[in-house]
Amino acid sequence: MVRVRVAPSPTGDPHVGTAYIALFNYVLAKQGGGQLVLRIEDTDQARSRPEWEQMIIDALGWLGLTWDEGPDVGGPYGPYRQSERSAIYREHVDMLVEKGAAYRCFCTPERLAEVREHQKVNKLDFGYDGHCRDLDLAQVKKNLDADIPFVVRLKVPKDGQTTVHDELRGDVVFENKQVDDQVLLKSDGMPTYHLANVVDDHLMEISHVMRAEEWITSTPKHVLLYGAFGWEIPKWIHMPLLRNPGGSKISKRKNPVSLNYYRDAGFLPEAMLNYLSRMGWSMPDEREKFSLEEMVKEFTFDRISLGGPVFDIAKLTWLNGVWIREQSVEKLVERIKTDLFNDATLNAIAPLLHERVDKLEDFVEKAAYFFAGDVTYDDEATKAMVPKNKQPKEAAKILAAVAEVLDGMVKIDVASMEQSLRELGERLEIEAKYLFMPIRVAVTGRKATPPLFETMEVLGKERCRRRLRGAIEHLKTVKQ
Ligand code: GLU
Repeated sequence: MVRVRVAPSPTGDPHVGTAYIALFNYVLAKQGGGQLVLRIEDTDQARSRPEWEQMIIDALGWLGLTWDEGPDVGGPYGPYRQSERSAIYREHVDMLVEKGAAYRCFCTPERLAEVREHQKVNKLDFGYDGHCRDLDLAQVKKNLDADIPFVVRLKVPKDGQTTVHDELRGDVVFENKQVDDQVLLKSDGMPTYHLANVVDDHLMEISHVMRAEEWITSTPKHVLLYGAFGWEIPKWIHMPLLRNPGGSKISKRKNPVSLNYYRDAGFLPEAMLNYLSRMGWSMPDEREKFSLEEMVKEFTFDRISLGGPVFDIAKLTWLNGVWIREQSVEKLVERIKTDLFNDATLNAIAPLLHERVDKLEDFVEKAAYFFAGDVTYDDEATKAMVPKNKQPKEAAKILAAVAEVLDGMVKIDVASMEQSLRELGERLEIEAKYLFMPIRVAVTGRKATPPLFETMEVLGKERCRRRLRGAIEHLKTVKQ
């Protein structure tokens, strides 16, 4: 029985990496006649947002990846949102403490900082020094009675090794002395990723844990946790990480990583899935274009290659073109109407240009930057992006700070943008008008536009983000 899961944390825009992992899990589930679970890992309360959860659900839905169980569709193993499972984690952590496989640690943050400093100065391995590992019961009771805050840590054996058997890599061996006494339960009573993830994978009867390579160093802790509970371990499959051209881990500085970007820019979901499936996997006949159903038929682990696959927008764009050209003209027209020139978009743009058009055809020129992908910057525009007394290089930095502000926002509506960008101006000690003109030019390519924030709201976060990136790159090439 195949039961797999995709377990995103709703702490930002829906990421291409989430779609990549969801895709391979979907294929495994379909092929094995099993189930795919969507589990929302929102134990980081400070960074998780319901809006981001919804965006993840929408983006995966856009791609046509469906799941059998999840917070939106329910299922017999729920709840599927970790924030609703606190009691389960607490109960399980108590089991570990009782068995002696985990212990309460009363160390203060100050003490932990001192330990770390000591390790740094003396070039020792980092990690908890085991101060509370063997506290006697009377002392523990005293601390509890005195309401001293505590975390619960996993008691990792000091010697020996822990072996992770990865289906793609074979045995990966970790020295236990390199494995930290991982915090399982935080002082606020919330579980860490490690505890919640393992408890849920077990209780949800997950048979194959297929996730990104970056988690492999966490897996020995998970193997030890399964052992401590006395549970059977699932199969581990760590997929190669997506990379930027150049080899670093995929990041929004080099590539758009939000699925919303690809949807808004008019990539076809079929092409996106096709491209993601080629990241580390290939068809037996090596053909480039194939559908999700074809992948389900042909998928085997032995065709996964572990060399870091490069997520290359130019190749994705090429493949998208192939998909577009193989569809009928009717289908293309339909997509242009639903995805590009739809009523919602026209209704959003028209009020901004109402006062500015004398003939209907003026609309085409005046609204062009609402529909175009990238914009270009002529000399005049370039000059306007550089605030008085600043160098282009500094202007690029300012726009990077603007991009960062937008990244942190769930939605870029007029009011919150105005507030956040004014605050940024104060922080950077730039007068608002010297900040807003460069932003206006960066996101539209023009100096004269309808009101800036209204315009940006209609452009949407993804387009603004991408054009800011384009403007930053452009400014870096300008003579200083
Ligand atoms: N919540 C983790 C993430 O955001 C899940 C990792 C895993 O699949 O175990 O990637």
